[in-house]
Amino acid sequence: MTPTETVYTNAEIFTADGTHGAEAFVVRGDRLAYVGDRGTAQRLASGDATAVDLGGRFVMPGFTDAHSHLVMMGESLRKVDLIDAGDLAEIQRRMRAAAEQAPHAARVLGRSWLPDAVPGGNPTRQMLDEVVADRPVYLDANDLHSVWVNTAALEELGITRDTPDPHGGLIARDESGEPSGMLYETAVTAIVWPKLVELSSDTERDAALAATFEHYLASGVTGAIEMACGEAELATLQRAVADDGSLPIRVTAHWLIHRSDTPEQELRQVQRAAELATSVCTPWLRVAGIKLILDGVIDTCTAAMKEPYANGENADPIWGREALFPVVAAADAADLQIAMHAIGDEASAIALDALEHAFRENGPRVRRHRMEHLETITVESIQRMASLGIVASMQPVHSDPAVQENWRAKLGDHRVDRGFPWPELSAAGAALAFGTDAPTAPYAPLPNMFIAATRRSALNPSLPANLPKYAMPIADALRHATADAAWSAGCERDLGRLSTGMLADFVVLDGNPLTAEADDLLTMGVHLTVVGGQTRYAVEPRD
Ligand SMILES: [Zn+2]
Repeated sequence: MTPTETVYTNAEIFTADGTHGAEAFVVRGDRLAYVGDRGTAQRLASGDATAVDLGGRFVMPGFTDAHSHLVMMGESLRKVDLIDAGDLAEIQRRMRAAAEQAPHAARVLGRSWLPDAVPGGNPTRQMLDEVVADRPVYLDANDLHSVWVNTAALEELGITRDTPDPHGGLIARDESGEPSGMLYETAVTAIVWPKLVELSSDTERDAALAATFEHYLASGVTGAIEMACGEAELATLQRAVADDGSLPIRVTAHWLIHRSDTPEQELRQVQRAAELATSVCTPWLRVAGIKLILDGVIDTCTAAMKEPYANGENADPIWGREALFPVVAAADAADLQIAMHAIGDEASAIALDALEHAFRENGPRVRRHRMEHLETITVESIQRMASLGIVASMQPVHSDPAVQENWRAKLGDHRVDRGFPWPELSAAGAALAFGTDAPTAPYAPLPNMFIAATRRSALNPSLPANLPKYAMPIADALRHATADAAWSAGCERDLGRLSTGMLADFVVLDGNPLTAEADDLLTMGVHLTVVGGQTRYAVEPRD
């Protein structure tokens, strides 16, 4: 059987490989058979190739979201969005309305509330009980590192005054010692998430993942890196694999390693990841390595900093050196790609120490480890990352000025002047991969590119820019979100650039990000999304 062939002409092509001037390309089967001038493209195509005139539109490699949570993203699309609920009354109004609209729903779920919206930054279960008392309410904080619950949810979770805080987590309590309604860090990942997974069905997870794929494709995303994969997420992804072995977009997964009671239990999780890396390994779905969450976030003072926060407190890392070194060394020895969440400057230093230790233990080998977020990384750690060849995985959306006020207040000193310093990492020579960390932030790539290029707010563009010295040329931002994001997952031979021989994963936009006004990125439409040569999204139905 001869593969299908399509000739696309009349395009402005951003190849992301440093070449310019391409205007046409040929897709044969799932790959690009040619990218360049129109005459050659037409000559190379066979007589029965389909011809598509793109009307002068802009074509670029499909976006790879270098850090995301696919099932959670789909679930969050169905939760009440609270990001623009400015005060407690508005949060209560929306939750009461949601409960009334779905009287038979087992629980009421919300997301993306900001600490500034709650008096004194101190949410309580009673504030939610006032509006919904008959069933559990779970409200994910915007950064997903804490959950605000009502009394019925605490009961569902089995959390009482006698429940100890889990390793690396906190169950907030009132003066009398009763749980007050806020759960932080591993109290979320080790108590809330497993409980909600247990209570939700495969059907619900399948629907959530399908919604994620649909939203990604409609916004130009053709690949994503799942950064907290567990058994439930993997099973959901495997159920989504079609008869031909494909998924709607390409997924690389990192297996989340949980802090456990003994080092042996932690090493067993690494072993499980190593087995999966061998058994789950296709062009559409593969397990590449592990994920370790070393610390929390600045907004709740749970990120591990070298110096205390403005309130004089500091946070211990979730993984200190003693626990982390053997896990990182074992994963490195097993050829697993290691990704470490490290937001605080102390956490990123610990991550680098653990990697250096593993490199000494295991000797030279081909590696591509990565560190996630790096919101407050020091100049010294940036140099270490570059010299060790560690990928910096960062999310412009997290620096949106609309979510910066509390972030800045918590640090409260000169450290805020070096927040989210992406260009310092690429200038030092570290690979820089952009993503969104959806659903902790909006998933759409073009607004993410707007923030990268302007440091302004995609949520409220009238706000002043956040450290505009760190804005970058839009072409650089696009490369970090395509070619470098594919590189971060080890897919650079097939994905992330538009050149002959690469997989045909591309997106056609209704505007040209390189020449448009930056603000146009916030409204620019996606015309067509093609993955592996197949049209997966088109503005108008195509036959
Ligand atoms: Zn994440």
